[in-house]
Amino acid sequence: MSVVGQALVGMELVDLQAALGQAEPSFRARQIYDAIYRRRVTDLTAISNLPKNLRARLAEEFPLGVPQVEQRYDSVDGTRRYLLRLSDGKTVETVWMPEGERSTICISSQIGCPVDCKFCLTALMGLERGLSAGEIVGQVLRIAAENNLAANPGRVNVVMMGQGEPLLNLPNVIKATRLLTDPAGIAIPTRRITLSTSGIIPKIEELGREPVRPKLAVSLNASTEEQRRELMPITRKYHLKDLIEACRAYPLRPWEKLTFEYVLLGGVNDTDADARRVVRLLARLNAKVNLIALNPGPGIPFETPGAARVASFQAIVKGSMPCFVRKPRGLDVYAACGQLKRMESKEKTHLGLGRGVASPSTNPMTHFTASRYMAWMSGRSHTSSRWPNVE
Ligand code: SAH
Ligand code: SF4
Repeated sequence: MSVVGQALVGMELVDLQAALGQAEPSFRARQIYDAIYRRRVTDLTAISNLPKNLRARLAEEFPLGVPQVEQRYDSVDGTRRYLLRLSDGKTVETVWMPEGERSTICISSQIGCPVDCKFCLTALMGLERGLSAGEIVGQVLRIAAENNLAANPGRVNVVMMGQGEPLLNLPNVIKATRLLTDPAGIAIPTRRITLSTSGIIPKIEELGREPVRPKLAVSLNASTEEQRRELMPITRKYHLKDLIEACRAYPLRPWEKLTFEYVLLGGVNDTDADARRVVRLLARLNAKVNLIALNPGPGIPFETPGAARVASFQAIVKGSMPCFVRKPRGLDVYAACGQLKRMESKEKTHLGLGRGVASPSTNPMTHFTASRYMAWMSGRSHTSSRWPNVE
């Protein structure tokens, strides 16, 4: 039985075989798999090792399923935020962050997000729907095609840190991970793919049982149960204490550390006492910490802490475990962590930055020119050049 209308991207080999049906020898499915995922063709009629009639059948019966670029927003730091159009007309955001030989693609797992963290712009969208495995993989294929990765592969990391809570879409995220990592296809090594979660405890346990899974990062973002409940209401359902337990039980691979992300909110969760509590919380875990100074946005009622505060927090955590400060990328085009909300450039002017980071007159998002933005960025001296810290 053929699965007419279903996109090819997102199909594993067995799905392709089933979709082609008995009429085709099984090596045809392997040829198509190779063309889509390893050679990354973006036009089905260009698969030249297939007979003409099969190419015509493919083009007629199956959409390829690589999303189209609806809009691209270029940051002066080289980051590109893409608004990609999916087959049902909905759009999703994906971010491309080149950094020398090492580049990162930040992909979305859902359109919007249901989790409601108080510091995150994506939360303001609510959840529209989850993405299919093909729509998750399609983001990587589109970014690879747009940025000519085939000619210039370098080292690519994928982070599931765009829109959405990946563990609330786990089956599709896992299928996408199998497709992204398959050595016969896209072939991105597992250790270069990171999934970030707000802490959906039962799903963390489920993820741990998957044979092919990305590295795990957990958004901690608070140092006490009460504080986390305020900032991340999901904590009312999945308590911080139980989250740490689930992390302790998580089956790390020999080369793996658990990453904890911590968004620093000025005057809220960024004191030295918070840092000491974070150290105690994570004490018995094989962990590293990535600090993210808040990326501001309209409707986000928090401030970015100053460089000295971030440095002090980092110094305390660093005394006990690896701790990095994540360098913000693409702030001027709303491409940084927690900023993905289909923002148009005209909305930039509503942004304000927190104390100690930049005065309004140097705010790159209200007055940015390339040189001014770069100067402002270098003023955020607490930011490391290693971004994101995905080994
Ligand atoms: N939903 C997942 C992954 C997407 S969010 C999660 O929450 O982990 C990716 C990261 O961006 C998370 O660590 C989140 O805490 C962080 N983040 C969200 N809003 C932010 C903001 N305004 N500034 C900086 N980081 C933010
Ligand atoms: Fe969703 Fe993550 Fe944003 Fe929380 S931080 S609302 S989980 S995308």
